[in-house]
This record gives sequence, structure tokens and C-alpha cells, in this order.
Amino acid sequence: MHVYVHIPFCDSICAYCDFFRYKTNTSMQKKWLNRLLEEIDSLSFSSIETLYFGGGTPSSLSNSMLEPIVKRFQPYLAQNYEWTIECNPETLTQQKIQMYAQWGINRISLGVQSFQPSILDTLGRKHTPEDIFQCIQYCRDHGIQNISIDLMYGLPKQTMADLQKDLDTFLRLDLPHLSIYSLQIEPHSIFGKQGIAPCDPDLEADMYEKIRQELTNAGYEQYEISSYCKNGMYSRHNLCYWDDSDFVGIGCGASGRIHGKRYDHNSSLQDYIQHGSIREYVESDPPFEAIMMSLRTSFGLNVQAWNQKYHRDFEKEYQPVLKKYANDLKIQNGRCVCTPAGLEILNTILVDFLEDS
Ligand code: SF4
Repeated sequence: MHVYVHIPFCDSICAYCDFFRYKTNTSMQKKWLNRLLEEIDSLSFSSIETLYFGGGTPSSLSNSMLEPIVKRFQPYLAQNYEWTIECNPETLTQQKIQMYAQWGINRISLGVQSFQPSILDTLGRKHTPEDIFQCIQYCRDHGIQNISIDLMYGLPKQTMADLQKDLDTFLRLDLPHLSIYSLQIEPHSIFGKQGIAPCDPDLEADMYEKIRQELTNAGYEQYEISSYCKNGMYSRHNLCYWDDSDFVGIGCGASGRIHGKRYDHNSSLQDYIQHGSIREYVESDPPFEAIMMSLRTSFGLNVQAWNQKYHRDFEKEYQPVLKKYANDLKIQNGRCVCTPAGLEILNTILVDFLEDS
């Protein structure tokens, strides 16, 4: 079983953000917490292999607010579980990390975005590079070695030299996992409203390639389009999104998938507080989604499993797409996998898969 819990509060709002999040408000948080616990108590759990507290900023909650949520899940963890909490450096104290470790949380995903003060400032981030280093040290001091950070590229005024500095700093930290995303200008974000121009596509492509080269040269495995790890330290939770598994999504802002059917929750925090959890099932195309998600990864699509699950014949049905992208898609050991060149044009390839579906 894989479980995602959405904690939709942030102490401040970043300029690029269009996620489901609300500025921290203590009285709203208390009402939200009651509804969240009510929702958790209405569900049954067994053998949770991966548990993910995402947001928003879960680490912005006080330990006393987080504790009743934590206690609900502890009895159901599988033996070899992975339990991640997303944190922002400015909200993370030594005391919080110590408690996370005591509770059994064993993976930290730290929102870093950049190590450079001027870029952090442009993004509206409230932490300094020193805060980041301090948090990583606290995690290690308390025995949490499985640390991932998020970085961004394609940022306003960011040069290749800036990117290189961020990559160098990441490599010096010797962390097991990195997620690295290009900036998307979302219309409802602060950047979108300010009319900030997106990164030049050629520069963005060069940056993607630079990241890939630097990290793979340093021994990291690119196991997904935006994810790198060392020594097989994959995000096991994220793998469930990419390998066509079901997952339970809890809390407003969370999506889930049961028997291949996707659902969202109430579209606003106010609605969630007023009415409690309401799942809204959304139209989806599970066979196509399985292709779309698995091709993001270096493991690709398990062709035989897909054929059996969906009673179809992948190679026969998509022969024109496979032929058109012969240099970008390979079938090897029963799996359809993107080559590095294919990953760079994955969206284009997926349009063809969709048209042939
Ligand atoms: S911390 Fe994350 S969720 Fe919160 S505003 Fe920033 S980007 Fe959005």
C-alpha cells in the first residue's frame, strides 16, 4: 500500500508556485486537522510500504499538530517502509528533525531550489544557503541519511555558470537523491501575474543536458526524467506513480488512485473544512497513463504486464509510433524504454501514443 497525505500550508508563498497551498493560518489549521483525522479514521490501512507527507510545507506544522497524524499511521507500516516528509529549510529545526526520526520518518525531501542567495530571493524563498547546510547536518546527526533535495533550472536571469555552481554544491553535499525541475511559468503564480518570460527553450535544453552529464559523470543514475540517485536510492513512493500502481491520497489537494480510477478531493480548503473529505473521481485513460508515466523512467514500460493487464497488444497496436521513433524508443528485455534522446522529446512522442490510442 502506498499513501500520500497532503498538508496544504506554507509560511510564505513562492513566486513560481501554483500548487494547492494556503498561507499558514492557525485557526484554519486546527479545523483542517480535525477533518484530516476524520478522513484518516474513515479509511483502513494495512502494510504501508511507502508513506509520503507532501504539500504545501509539512514541516511548517508544529510537532504537536503533526503528531496525531503520525500516530494514525505508525501501526500500519510495513517492515521495510519508506516514510518521506517534505520540508523547507527555514521551517525545519533540530527539534523537529529529532522528533521526525523518533517517530520513524526515514526520508527527508528538502525544497532547496538553488544555493544562491540572489536566485532564492527572486524565487521568493525565505531560506539561506546556510539554512540548507544546517538542515542536512541535523538530518545526518539524527540518523536520517536518506535525503533528497529539489533544485530548479531555467530560472529568470540564471546562466549556465549559475547552474554549474548549484550542481557543484549539490555534488559536494554527497546526497543520495536529487529531483531537478525546469521552471514552468504558471498563469496563476506570482511570476505568471508579473508576466515573467519563460526560459529560452534552447538554453533550457542545454541546461537539461548539462545536468545529465554532470550528474551521470559523478556516478548518479538518471532513473526518471527529473530524478537522479546513487546506490539505488530511488524514491520508492514516486516509483508507485510511474509503475501503474494504485495509491491512497488523503487530504484536500491530494489525488489518489483505486483500482486504476483516479480521484481528487474538494477543490478548496474551505470546502474541505465545511463538508469533510469528498472524493471526486476524474476521467482517466489507465492504459495510456501507464505508458505516459513509465516512459519517464529508465525502467520503461513492462510490455507483457501491460498487455495482460489491459488485454491489448502494445507492439502491434503502436507499431507506427515505435517505427517513427526508432532512435528514441527501444524494446529491450521486454520493456519499452526511452533512449536519452527520446527522453528529451518525450512530450512529442506521447502525443503520437495518444493519437494512436
Ligand atoms: S513552499 Fe512549495 S508549496 Fe509552498 S509556496 Fe513554495 S513552492 Fe508552493
